[in-house]
Amino acid sequence: MKKEIAKINALLIKEFGIPPRNTNKATPLDTLIGTILSQNTNDNNSFKAYSKLKCSFKNWDEIEKLPLMKLEKLINVAGLGFQKATAIKKVLSYLKREKGSLSLDYLVDNSDEEILTELTSFQGVGLKTASCVLLFSLERNVCPVDTHVHRTLNRIGIVKTSSPDKTFLAVKDFLPEKSAHTFHTNLIRLGRAICKPAKPGCAVCPLLKICQYEEKNLEKGKAVTKRDFMLLDNL
Ligand code: SF4
Repeated sequence: MKKEIAKINALLIKEFGIPPRNTNKATPLDTLIGTILSQNTNDNNSFKAYSKLKCSFKNWDEIEKLPLMKLEKLINVAGLGFQKATAIKKVLSYLKREKGSLSLDYLVDNSDEEILTELTSFQGVGLKTASCVLLFSLERNVCPVDTHVHRTLNRIGIVKTSSPDKTFLAVKDFLPEKSAHTFHTNLIRLGRAICKPAKPGCAVCPLLKICQYEEKNLEKGKAVTKRDFMLLDNL
């Protein structure tokens, strides 16, 4: 599987290039909260909610003290306000109570597995959210699997899995060294711009020759829209 992933990665780089990485690194806690806000919404709306929190308050301590309803209102633009506000409050309260400070820096020397176990023990934090912290903040070679990554990898034929979490577990030990950020980001670009859920643009797809999807759509002439704003590279 490692060789196949390397080949797909190379073809996607040819099409989309190597995505830039944020040099102004967000902390692991920033990334965790940004990712909670990004669940089930688009990058622009979650960025608005994240920016509102960051611009309205000096630090996470001030946000931890907010009443739940106020936090919910502040982040409502990202949708699922109550659910996300509850998850954020629980993470912040836990860190304050159990660790004495609002930071996830106590995890930085732990293994990927240990960090995933710790983060997924928080309410509202699943494998995808936890793996985003590993990739985007801690720069580990881990590929978070959202709906685009799950769909494209199944169509290409790298995995045959029934959920994003199963896809994550199936590929996690087969990523070529230092490939995860580019692989993850370019699969999302592919899924948004070409390998769309309803009508994939197989005729213009850089993976056409190696893709095993049996229901390819080879109609030509469809415009390809590339949306390049990626929330977690812009926190
Ligand atoms: S060839 Fe079609 S189905 Fe396969 S990855 Fe490309 S767009 Fe998706």
